[in-house]
Amino acid sequence: MTGDVTKWVYAFREGSREMRDLLGGKGANVADMTRLGLPVPPGFTLTTAACITYLGEGRVFPPGLGEQIAAHLAALEADAGKRLGDADDPLLVAVRSGARDSMPGMMDTILNLGLNDQSVEGLAATTGNPRFAFDSYRRFIQIYAAVVCGVDKHHFEAALDALKVDRGARLDVDLDADDLRGLTDTFIGIFQQHMGEAFPQDPRLQLDGAIRAVFASWETRRAYDYRRLHGIPHDLGTAVNVQRMVFGNTGDRSGTGVAFTRDNATGEPGRPFGDFLMNAQGEDVVAGIRTPRPLAELADVLPEAFAELMETMGHLERRYRDMQDVEFTIEDGRLYMLQTRNGKRSAFARVRIAVDMVDEGLVTEDEALRDLVVCAQVPQLLLPQLDSEGVTLAGLIPLAHGVNASPGAAVGAIVLTADEAERRGHAGERVILVRDETTPDDLHGMIAAQGIVTARGGKTSHAAVVAVGMGCPAVCGVETLRIDGDLVTIGDTVLAVGDLITIDGTNGAVYAGEAPVTAPDPFNPYLMRILEWADRARVLRVRANADTPDDARRARQFGAEGIGLCRSEHMFFSAERVPLVQAMIMSDDDAERERLLALLRPFQVDDFMGIFREMRGLPVTIRLLDPPLHEFLPSLLDLRLRAAANEREGICDPELDAQRARVTELHEENPMLGTRGVRLGLEFPEIFRMQAGAVMQAAIAVRDETGEAPVVEIMIPLVAYEQELRAAREMVLDEVERVRATSDGAHIEVLVGTMIELPRAALTSGDIAREAEFFSFGTNDLTQTTLGFSRDDAEKGFLGMYLRSNLLPNNPFETLDVDGVGRLIRIAAEGARPVRPGIKLGLCGEHGGDPASIMFCHDMGLDYVSCSPYRVQMARIAAGQAALNGAHGVSPSD
Ligand code: ADP
Ligand code: MG
Ligand code: MG
Repeated sequence: MTGDVTKWVYAFREGSREMRDLLGGKGANVADMTRLGLPVPPGFTLTTAACITYLGEGRVFPPGLGEQIAAHLAALEADAGKRLGDADDPLLVAVRSGARDSMPGMMDTILNLGLNDQSVEGLAATTGNPRFAFDSYRRFIQIYAAVVCGVDKHHFEAALDALKVDRGARLDVDLDADDLRGLTDTFIGIFQQHMGEAFPQDPRLQLDGAIRAVFASWETRRAYDYRRLHGIPHDLGTAVNVQRMVFGNTGDRSGTGVAFTRDNATGEPGRPFGDFLMNAQGEDVVAGIRTPRPLAELADVLPEAFAELMETMGHLERRYRDMQDVEFTIEDGRLYMLQTRNGKRSAFARVRIAVDMVDEGLVTEDEALRDLVVCAQVPQLLLPQLDSEGVTLAGLIPLAHGVNASPGAAVGAIVLTADEAERRGHAGERVILVRDETTPDDLHGMIAAQGIVTARGGKTSHAAVVAVGMGCPAVCGVETLRIDGDLVTIGDTVLAVGDLITIDGTNGAVYAGEAPVTAPDPFNPYLMRILEWADRARVLRVRANADTPDDARRARQFGAEGIGLCRSEHMFFSAERVPLVQAMIMSDDDAERERLLALLRPFQVDDFMGIFREMRGLPVTIRLLDPPLHEFLPSLLDLRLRAAANEREGICDPELDAQRARVTELHEENPMLGTRGVRLGLEFPEIFRMQAGAVMQAAIAVRDETGEAPVVEIMIPLVAYEQELRAAREMVLDEVERVRATSDGAHIEVLVGTMIELPRAALTSGDIAREAEFFSFGTNDLTQTTLGFSRDDAEKGFLGMYLRSNLLPNNPFETLDVDGVGRLIRIAAEGARPVRPGIKLGLCGEHGGDPASIMFCHDMGLDYVSCSPYRVQMARIAAGQAALNGAHGVSPSD
């Protein structure tokens, strides 16, 4: 290693666990275990930088790499007193991939490298164990052929199976040395046949080939797909670990296994568990060739190795201060540690382990919150789940499988329409809404249902998106589902409306009848402890989006500190109100409109009272009417068809003609960009006035009733111009003061503000702030208006393709587009603060429940985020983590 050539290779004893980026997770931890003096076979690591350079430069070894490998290999040989692939007494190595982030099963490990036709004889002679030597060689030929040369491994597996049949052997271990010697010849023949050349015999060429293959595996399709699924960047590269082999296949005092330091399903401590196999190597344990044995039995087979393993695992857990997942091999009774990493675990295990580790004094509360809790898993704690053991015990078989669109399990009677779901649901019955697909018109039925099943659509279908938002289990795209009148066929089974079914939205299965389900505990004691830590750490407040008293109550139970978005239009769409609303819009007479609105007003007062009662003492943001005009109008097409029919039959219906004329007059080509929000409010001022009055009246009534008033925030939607907001605000305040004057409303605090959901509003926030006591960033619409595409159309269409082809890293409607929409938020905040110091800034919209977006809101210094009630707990934790991590680089670059 001369001059200033880059250091591409590190011996295990040179590395450390801080060097994950360069050495990969496996290499860094193996280095760390080596330094700790744990029994790790020696070896060295080629860096991720070597991989990226190799791939970037047309797949040639960068200068110095070949020499550095040679030098480290020489040191490894000296240490072992053996030479790689030596004919008499060979050193064998494992070549192991290992990226920074664990990518389980993504890249294959090559074992027993250094064997060839001579060295296998040497190995047999020096160990006196020819069976073991040829077992190792046939494994090496197969894996090398498959991983390095791309020969389909099934050719080898078929030959092995044929041999077993021929010998009457049930398992690999039933084959003897001669069988395996013969098998290696067969394997070499298969290699020759597929590659048109002999199996490589030169150990150093074998090693270089293996290294190249591991480097190249970073660019395989499945590696790309895995990284996209898990948000791992594509430009990191993988390290390569070259390590002296230890052998779990030398006989019945040898074996190999994997183990967790705690139960990864329940989190229960003091019960390490895992699987092992005697006389086995490498992937045998997970490959399902033989059924592995539970770890506890190792205590009987090899008590000393077992005791050492237990002690080592305890040690590793204390050092890494997290549950560990280890891989080990025992060679002739001696234990070797091959890997340790933080283990994957269920949501339940995760919260329990975090709390237990604090109680055990392993970590502080802040550390546990920051490092041991994964926000995204938290909502899973709230869903009833299918009790899989119970299902197995009862011998239940699914009728069909579809897309696991929204997790959790649900049991209910089949209903086929949203209205029936609502009717039966309100009567207290558990129902599952079964549809070909759902549309926004089904919303009321979806709300009332326990679960949803559709025949068509995947994870971005309406049913799926809405169900996830509501925390309602759903199975979509059940291809064998047919609806015929009152009958539903699923798979081969015919069911009728009213029959019970169970759906498992976590796995996508549908069962007939009632399958066992485990109830969630929204106040999981471990989660409650974690929430206390989060609440102490966070500065960001968390509110909920809630339109009904039920949602408001739930939100408050989950710890919401107010309502950040209450959409008042939902209150206009129920059956008894729609005709009034329609008549009101259709009327071109102001007095008539006033009369109809007066009829609607008591309903609104009632609605708001229900919500205020639940939110006594907390802020509630009521958004005035927002939807586009056309949602209140009869369908123009309908009216035209009816008019045409009348004409054919010579019927004269002047009322219909007038209606048609009015709807034609109000018709808009682009209703989403048309008369909605403040524009509608200014066009029909009576509506906003009525709503503002009703809000105030309800607040006073609730204060009188309970002694506590909410903090009322009236929010004007879709403002582009300061002038719009000024006009609307005057109207609203005028009405508020009128109600205040007629009753004793003096002590009720009312703020008027706006939703920032148009780029113009964000860009002119200083002007807007003169008229607004608060801003709430409506990031659903702000994303649509910034990007210029509609969410529904995009998700149904090109956005899926963008995501699949890596054009975009994530869906901007799920995770805030920090560089575009985020920049507008920053501009708006920075423009508003000097004009109105202390202006309340919040964010509502789905992003309020997304951990990365919450981090951004924290960094921007917003006052609160508002999200679905089911995400409130998660958002509290995300806000706590954001505070502990500080500004972490998600703010838009200047
Ligand atoms: P993965 O990342 O897929 O787990 P590993 O590199 O950890 O791949 O290797 C998989 C398995 O191969 C290990 O669990 C172990 O059984 C075996 N193995 C790896 N390195 C060695 C070695 N030096 N000696 C013996 N077996 C090894
Ligand atoms: Mg491993
Ligand atoms: Mg909006």
